[in-house]
Amino acid sequence: MHTVTLIPGDGIGPEVTAAAVEVIAAAGIKINWEIADMGITALEKYGTPLPDEAIASVKKNKFALKGPVTTPVGKGFRSVNVGLRQALNLYANLRPVKSFPGIPSPFSSVDLVVVRENTEDLYAGVEHNIGNVAAEAVKIITKEASNRIARFAFQYALEHRRKKVTAVHKANILKLSDGLFLNTCQAAARDYPDIEFSDRIIDALCMDLVLAPHKYDVLVLPNLYGDIVSDLCAGLVGGLGLVPGANIGTEGAVFEAVHGSAPDIAGKGIANPTALMLCAAMLLDQLGETTAAEKIRRGIEQVIEEKIALTRDLGGSSSTREFTEAICRAI
Ligand code: NAD
Repeated sequence: MHTVTLIPGDGIGPEVTAAAVEVIAAAGIKINWEIADMGITALEKYGTPLPDEAIASVKKNKFALKGPVTTPVGKGFRSVNVGLRQALNLYANLRPVKSFPGIPSPFSSVDLVVVRENTEDLYAGVEHNIGNVAAEAVKIITKEASNRIARFAFQYALEHRRKKVTAVHKANILKLSDGLFLNTCQAAARDYPDIEFSDRIIDALCMDLVLAPHKYDVLVLPNLYGDIVSDLCAGLVGGLGLVPGANIGTEGAVFEAVHGSAPDIAGKGIANPTALMLCAAMLLDQLGETTAAEKIRRGIEQVIEEKIALTRDLGGSSSTREFTEAICRAI
C-alpha cells in the first residue's frame, strides 16, 4: 500500500481533498493517508503555520495531496505555500490546462501546459520598507533556477509528445533579470532540437491567450508571471475549479489545485472538487497507478459532458457531495 501525506488545508480545502480521497478509493487504490496540518489549522495547534512535522511527513513519503491554504493579505504570516515549496525545493510547478467537452468557455479544445518556476523571482520573500514612504521587493532570477526550469519544460515536452516550448518574459524592460531567464531558456533550447522554441513578452502573451490560445503548447515562466498566467488559462477552460497542478522537486512532489481556499464559498458544500480530483489522478500517475488515474479522468469527463451532475461554478446546482458521488459511480 502507498503512504501519502494528505494536507487538507483550510477554506474549501477539507471539502475538496475529501472528495479527491473518495475518488481514489472508488478507482480501487488503497492509500495510507498521513494527515498533516498547514496554515491556520496548524497555527492554532503548533503555533506556526508551517510545522516541521508537515515538512518531515512530505519528505518521508515523497508525495502529498494538498488542499489550498489561506495566506493573509498585506499582513500576518508569510505564505506557507511558498515556504513549503522552498523547504522541499519543489522547483517546478506544472499546470496542465485542458478544455472539458460540455463546459461553456471562450474556446473549445484548449490544451496548454503552464510550467512555472517555483522558488525565486519576487516570491523569494526579500521585501522591506524604506522608512514609511516606500517599500522594496527584490526580484531574484538565477541562472541555475532558470536552467533547471527550462530543462524541466523541454524534458516534459519531449516525454509528453508536445511540440513547442514558449519562454515568457519582460526582457525588454527587465533586461538583466528577465534577460537572464530568456538567455538561459534559449541556451537550453539548443539541447532539444526536436522541440520548437519561441519566446513572448508577457503582456503580448496575455492578449494572445485570450484571442488565440491554440498558438501555444508548453509555456515556461518565472514565478510571478506563471502564477498570474495560470489563472488566466484556467479562465480559458471554464474556471479555477477545473485546473490541477503539481509542485515537483528532487525530493518529492506536492499535488495541489491552481485555486485558493475560496473563503467566499467555504463550508457551504458547493465547491467544485474537479481540480483536486485531477490532482489525485496526477498523483496516481506518479505512483505508477496509471489505469486508476485514467479511470478518474474518464469518470470526471463523463459526468461533466453528460451533465450527470454539475457544480454551480459550472452552471449546475449539484453540491460537492452529489458531484463526487456521481463521479464515484461513473468510475
Ligand atoms: P481563490 O482561488 O480561492 O478564489 C477565487 C474565486 O474562484 C472565488 O470566487 C472562489 O469562490 C472561486 N473558486 C475557487 N476555487 C473554486 C472551486 N474549487 N469551486 C468553485 N469556485 C471556486 O482565490 P482568492 O479568493 O484570491 O484567494 C483566497 C485565498 O487562497 C488567499 O488567502 C490566497 O492566498 C489563497 N491561495 C492559496 C493557494 C494554495 O494554497 N495553493 C493558491 C491560491 C490562493
